[in-house]
Amino acid sequence: MGNEAKAASTEAPAATTEAGAEVAADTVDTAQRAADAALAEAAAEAEFEALAPAPRAEIGVIGGSGLYSFLDDVTEVTVTTPYGTPSDSLFIGEVAGRRVAFLPRHGRGHHLPPHRINYRANLWALRAAGVRQVLGPCAVGGLLPEYGPGTLLVPDQLLDRTKARVQTYFDGEPLPDGTVPNVVHTTFADPYCPIGRKVALAAAHGRDWAAVDGGTLVVVEGPRFSTRAESRFHAAMGGAVVGMTGHPEAVLARELGLCYTSLTLVTDLDAGAETGEGVSHTEVLRVFGENLGRLREVLFDAIAALPENGSRSCLCTQVHEGWDLGIELP
Ligand SMILES: [Zn+2]
Repeated sequence: MGNEAKAASTEAPAATTEAGAEVAADTVDTAQRAADAALAEAAAEAEFEALAPAPRAEIGVIGGSGLYSFLDDVTEVTVTTPYGTPSDSLFIGEVAGRRVAFLPRHGRGHHLPPHRINYRANLWALRAAGVRQVLGPCAVGGLLPEYGPGTLLVPDQLLDRTKARVQTYFDGEPLPDGTVPNVVHTTFADPYCPIGRKVALAAAHGRDWAAVDGGTLVVVEGPRFSTRAESRFHAAMGGAVVGMTGHPEAVLARELGLCYTSLTLVTDLDAGAETGEGVSHTEVLRVFGENLGRLREVLFDAIAALPENGSRSCLCTQVHEGWDLGIELP
């Protein structure tokens, strides 16, 4: 918009209407005018970029400040989206030569509970920054006794038990620019990026962490923890771990054609899988804190090993084939 305004200011006032443009064309060579306008536009664009260089990223990590706070040269970038405000700014820095955008899922200070996170804004903001591959670490409860605290599990399936979350961009609601998303039914049989999963598992094994390959992540509405009956039900339905944020994060990433990989860290045994008092928030935070260092190492090794965005060949990139989305993705 600003560029157009600057470019337009070099035009003669008569060119602001169609009739005026015709009059102007009588006296000014049309081709010359077009060339002048193009030059002015390019100059304005260069000036604009010099004023506001936009750091770009290729990989996104949705996780807390403990993952990026010690990096040098992290740039905080505020992104607004047609879907509202993300959980926080993007914190863009470099890891192993790759440009990475970190987004605190719950906001800095952890003020957003899982059901109030603006998942659509979060994924949109990452894509707008250039991100095409996303790693989503999160804390979960183990539904089976063998998945105790400290287990890292890279799920291959997801069971959505959330209740009141918007889980699509294609809901027919017009965007602020007037475009309207079409109805799109997204393929989601395999909710996670197969390449990202392999990379994450290899990174964990490289750090001597015997990560579990596959399993179903059950996602509940929260913010409360499950009852024992719910926990037993989730285990009986085939769940391996249970969390509160893995959905709709995964499906929104898929709708945007992003590769999304979930890394779940078990911080407790869920209510039905243990005989004690049930899960406490304090316990979750303690175990997560204890494992944060090695989780960060695994994430950074995975970042280094992810493919270049331009060379992705996984199913995530083909999700829109044959569909007219009705809107432009950022
Ligand atoms: Zn992928």
